[in-house]
Amino acid sequence: MTEHVAGLDRRLADAIERLGNGLRSLSQHSARAQGLSPLQQQAVLALARQPESRRQVNALAAEFDVTTPTMSDAVSTLERKGLLTRSPGPDGRRRLLTLTERGSAVAAELAQWDQQVVAALAALPEQDRATTLHTLLRVIGELQGQGVVSVVRTCTTCRFFSPDAHPDPAAPHHCNLMQKPLRLADLRIDCAEHQQAS
Ligand code: SF4
Repeated sequence: MTEHVAGLDRRLADAIERLGNGLRSLSQHSARAQGLSPLQQQAVLALARQPESRRQVNALAAEFDVTTPTMSDAVSTLERKGLLTRSPGPDGRRRLLTLTERGSAVAAELAQWDQQVVAALAALPEQDRATTLHTLLRVIGELQGQGVVSVVRTCTTCRFFSPDAHPDPAAPHHCNLMQKPLRLADLRIDCAEHQQAS
């Protein structure tokens, strides 16, 4: 690896860290406005969009790379604030977490917390956005393989994903479940049909 490329890698990692810092600042600001912590905000937003099978403390803890006791504390606080309820899950044992009406209203207000980042990305040409998505998903897949990121449901970590199956640079990969090429711009980060590749 040349010194120049190594320098590029360093600057990319620094740029991602800067983005992470900015996102953390936005998250803290948004959560504080609702009297929540950033982790409580993440839990509320996740419960608003996830299927029943993932609306449990363990699943949320894995999703956000925190310990189960840490997520349990966040969930207990949300319960005390009247934003969620716990009920027996399908197996009658695990507790299914469900947002209350007030919790759903708070989730709706929090939904735009990262709007400034979304708007900044939207200003870029579509090809740049698609290439960036592809690159980030490959990095996330690599980090999952190293155990740095625990739960991902991305195309690049899916057993149905066939990389570089087509000559079209805009749609080089293939989904063997949907049986069609995947455009870079359509790569998924939270696919309901995802199954972890071995
Ligand atoms: S099943 Fe979903 S995650 Fe897997 S390759 Fe197809 S679109 Fe991507």
